[in-house]
Amino acid sequence: MKIGILSDIHSNSEAINSVLKNIKRVDEFICLGDIVGYGADPNYCIEKVKDLNCKCVGGNHDFAVVGKVNINYFNYAARAAILWTSRQLKKDNINFLLSLNKKIELKNKVFAVHGSPQDPILEYILDKNTASLIFSKFNFKICFVGHSHLAGCFSLDENNNQIDYINYRNGGRIEISKNKRYIINCGSVGQPRDGNPKASYGIYDLKYGIVNIYRVSYPIHLTQDKIINAGLPKSLADRLSYGR
Ligand code: ZN
Repeated sequence: MKIGILSDIHSNSEAINSVLKNIKRVDEFICLGDIVGYGADPNYCIEKVKDLNCKCVGGNHDFAVVGKVNINYFNYAARAAILWTSRQLKKDNINFLLSLNKKIELKNKVFAVHGSPQDPILEYILDKNTASLIFSKFNFKICFVGHSHLAGCFSLDENNNQIDYINYRNGGRIEISKNKRYIINCGSVGQPRDGNPKASYGIYDLKYGIVNIYRVSYPIHLTQDKIINAGLPKSLADRLSYGR
């Protein structure tokens, strides 16, 4: 059983299509939220997620465009894109975003959230202190997260209580070990921020206990043209070139 892990697509249809083309075979998909925001193809990306029959959680942008998260949490460019997106969305797609859960359980002790288990919508897990607190408060084997747009993995070794962080900005392979617990971010499909502009996604192979993270190039200039033609802030187009 293989699960494709998609997160932070952010209305980037070129990136999601390149990722889906790159994925050979998976049995199902999960989506860790922020399907919309920043980019110019919100309806297309929501419909893609629906077509894939993804198990899906909502992210801060998904909930902000339907009025469930206050837009004052966002910077100017993000806010402009949220307001623009909420004007574009079809009724069905609004209802889809409204229906999203904050947390899903994939199997015994394997969870998926957008931000973190203690604040699924807004919290970023960016350092070992935050990771340590979350490992101690929540009893999971693996928690898949998105939100930071940084591909990487925190692991807790239960033999010596040591926490490690490995950055996967160029992709890589995580072998799930018996005495460790994990917080895994497979990176962002549509707006990577780890310095690598390529789209990022993961595949979790349950049978072998392996998570692979992959990076895929996509026609960034097409996405940038659409953002500019839509009248969205130019900074949202520019950052895609740098993966920031
Ligand atoms: Zn995001």
